[in-house]
Amino acid sequence: MLSGPFIPRDWMGACETFEQADWVLVGLPYDGTTSFRPGTRFGPEAIRSASWGLETYSPLQDADLSHTSYFDAGELEFPLGNRDAILSMIRDNARQVVQANKRWLGLGGEHLVTFPVIEAYVEKYPDLAVLHFDAHADLRDDYLGEKLSHATVLRRVVDLIGPESLVQLGIRSGPQEEFAWMRKHGTLLEKRENLPQALARLQGRPVFLTIDLDVLDPSIMSGTGTPEPGGMSFSEFVAWLMEFRGLNFVGADVVELSPHYDPSGVSTVVAAKVVREVMLLGSLQSDNMKQVATTSSATV
Ligand code: MN
Ligand code: MN
Repeated sequence: MLSGPFIPRDWMGACETFEQADWVLVGLPYDGTTSFRPGTRFGPEAIRSASWGLETYSPLQDADLSHTSYFDAGELEFPLGNRDAILSMIRDNARQVVQANKRWLGLGGEHLVTFPVIEAYVEKYPDLAVLHFDAHADLRDDYLGEKLSHATVLRRVVDLIGPESLVQLGIRSGPQEEFAWMRKHGTLLEKRENLPQALARLQGRPVFLTIDLDVLDPSIMSGTGTPEPGGMSFSEFVAWLMEFRGLNFVGADVVELSPHYDPSGVSTVVAAKVVREVMLLGSLQSDNMKQVATTSSATV
């Protein structure tokens, strides 16, 4: 054995085994249905690399990742070009994580990778609700004739859970029909005063959190395939996240980082920090949390 010291390239030096871990991080390097600029297949590796520059402690949540347990499984090796085989692989792996009572944390990849995960989750949690951050509704029934695309992924999720089990934030781009659909079904949380109605959809139920990073403004998230001006600042984003503290988050994913469009690397750092905050948010409800944060002094 070489004496090193060597730096493992896992997420923040993840050292728990699958059996020990509460969170299981899985890289999903797929960008096969990307409608505009490809490149999200490079997202998971970039996020892991950037995680080494982060602190494990979040002042915002007064919680520390060292009190959680996580296993980084690495990246699934996909037969790129075979969408259906890839979705099947993701579903099989998510099923193993869910059935082992662990939380899936998918690192995208494009947003379509969320669908097979939700398929696995509803097998175990028929009353699953989904909390969705995105610039786009992803509610088209098909995109250029394709039913399975990153532009249709939430519509496919709704086919499984029903519109009454979905809450969406940050949506600011799409055809009029999508906005009409969201208003008809009450899925879009547009103003803070409507937060109680959104929470009513989520409380007391298992919740999956899916974050498309293009919900953030391109000024801090240019590294994504479909940037949309007018998005949230990082502070606004985490303030929204904190509104959902205490929910029973059973899994999550962070998708659509396309790191090469942002040579400064800022988008990748932002993505890694989003992953940290998501893990901590979910862990506050966890039986496996080694030590739960005691105060909530967050101000943003
Ligand atoms: Mn999007
Ligand atoms: Mn999306």
